[in-house]
Amino acid sequence: MSLFSTEATEITSLRKLRDAEAQCTRCPLYRDATQVVPGEGPISAALMLVGEQPGNDEDLAGKPFVGPAGRVLDRALADAGLDRSKVFVTNAVKHFKFELRGKRRLHKRPNAYEIERCRWWLDLERAIVKPELVVALGATAARSLLNRTVSIAAVRGKILEAGDGMRLAVTIHPSYLLRIIERADKEQEYRRFVGDLRMCKQALREAA
Ligand code: SF4
Repeated sequence: MSLFSTEATEITSLRKLRDAEAQCTRCPLYRDATQVVPGEGPISAALMLVGEQPGNDEDLAGKPFVGPAGRVLDRALADAGLDRSKVFVTNAVKHFKFELRGKRRLHKRPNAYEIERCRWWLDLERAIVKPELVVALGATAARSLLNRTVSIAAVRGKILEAGDGMRLAVTIHPSYLLRIIERADKEQEYRRFVGDLRMCKQALREAA
């Protein structure tokens, strides 16, 4: 199946979406990655979390947020009283972008073109899952979802209304916490992250 012959209207289930994503050549990132990493979670999920892109572990496993950042996310969701198995977890960009340093594959941030090209899939995921609230984890996800560059500090801690009726919260990407060296700072930022997720849980409760 050629992606370019696939109409978005034909993609009405997560299984069809995964199959179509696996054929994607909309940007060059499919060439070097091991495989596409589709979103994962129940179609009935009220909450959708959107990260940046798969990392090395996710690229190998074919699943989102299974590496070190995923473990931080799991812990934070649990501390916020959210059950990951009920959340739809995905990324703004579905293939791993990296540069080789010897044998190591080091994460490389996706560029504006790649984010723009991959938004096609994120829009389809949102159309199929129809979450009540979407959470952008980090600036790349926020850029994809809002179609503009935003400062996380400027939009954090509130529920935004996007043009298409999407309700959106923006917080940090959990990998940010992994990069903080100072223990006290790390703990403080982690608590802030959990606070953001608690706010999302409360917003879902109010919408119910
Ligand atoms: S990153 Fe997204 S747009 Fe680019 S090839 Fe992969 S699935 Fe397609």
